Amino acid sequence: MPAYDAILFDFDGVLIDTEPLHYACWMQVLAPYGIDLTWEEYARRWIGVSDRAMLHELAPLAQPPVEGAALLEHHPAKKELFRRRSLESQPWVPGLPGFLASLHGYKLAVVTSSGRGEVAPLLEAGGIRRFFGAEVFGNDTPRLKPAPDPYLRAAELLGARTPLVVEDSPAGMESARAAGFDCVMVPRAREMPSLVEATLGRGAECGGPGRQPPR
Ligand SMILES: [Mg+2]
Repeated sequence: MPAYDAILFDFDGVLIDTEPLHYACWMQVLAPYGIDLTWEEYARRWIGVSDRAMLHELAPLAQPPVEGAALLEHHPAKKELFRRRSLESQPWVPGLPGFLASLHGYKLAVVTSSGRGEVAPLLEAGGIRRFFGAEVFGNDTPRLKPAPDPYLRAAELLGARTPLVVEDSPAGMESARAAGFDCVMVPRAREMPSLVEATLGRGAECGGPGRQPPR
């Protein structure tokens, strides 16, 4: 069992079940362009991908087709819509504050491609921002996931050598692997605590490893 010294959490789909809300907000904002993806299409292709990359690839699907820049103009409107609706609903993983408190032996970070303006207010509203020793948002590294930069930055900020990454998207897992870190995949946000517990090999037991990293 590896001795992890930190846990690096993705945000959307890992700490909070926001992906259906991101999807709903994007479809509302893009509806005037005739872009109408099913949830399955969105989830398969766009979860974990940066908004900018997604909009550039969706632009040719508009009716009539447009440049990516035309869709990018609507990015602020989507972010504002998401900010409002996410603060209203706050679909956190059940029991999240208690779970994070139980990880007191590990350094914790949140590592997301979403912007500080979308995520920080939610962390505050949920009362969980105090658990994280580092935060890496979408504008904090030159390259986003699937590049390793965000997870490498978080490990550097925490001074972590053997972190465990918790992810829900292929792009996020690729980022973790490229950084050289172990990664636990979370198919549904509500299953995250039990999957992390199982990976840490401690069941319901609480507390950190108290061990030296193997390298
Ligand atoms: Mg995610």
